[in-house]
Amino acid sequence: MKEKCEIIRDLLPLVQDGVASEASCRLVREHLETCEECRSAYSLDPVKMPDETLDRRLIASVRKAFFLMGIVLLLIGALVGVAVTDSMNVFYNFILMPGLGMLGYWLFRGKSLLVPLGIFLLAYLFQIPGTGFADSFPMAVLYALLCGLGLGIGFLLDYAFAREGKK
Ligand SMILES: [Zn+2]
Repeated sequence: MKEKCEIIRDLLPLVQDGVASEASCRLVREHLETCEECRSAYSLDPVKMPDETLDRRLIASVRKAFFLMGIVLLLIGALVGVAVTDSMNVFYNFILMPGLGMLGYWLFRGKSLLVPLGIFLLAYLFQIPGTGFADSFPMAVLYALLCGLGLGIGFLLDYAFAREGKK
């Protein structure tokens, strides 16, 4: 019994965070119903736990789905944007690149500076075969700047909304 309590207490944080498997949740739930010691140690309400776990899991999986969708969108946008560099459609990038920056900020927050960097590398490498090393540079920098602009807008919007929310 003592050994089982230790296992249960190891599992508890995972269950509370909604990342434990269904079997682990059930194990913990069943144990808490029978073991007074573990229950009082974490002062959990064993009746309330399953629903909370389910909600949190649902939110986590929805977030994950949005995140993946965002990444796919970002990749497609970046590839399309860079691919039209040598055509008339290049002007769409004045809208597309900032859009990608905003999307990147929304997806990665603190690490989102990697997005303009990635755009730069992608645009630069894409142009080298046709345009050469030196002449590819300005366009790649322009894309990165536009993307960075969108990132900055995303940051400011986020900042503004966060302040609004605190009021
Ligand atoms: Zn126990």
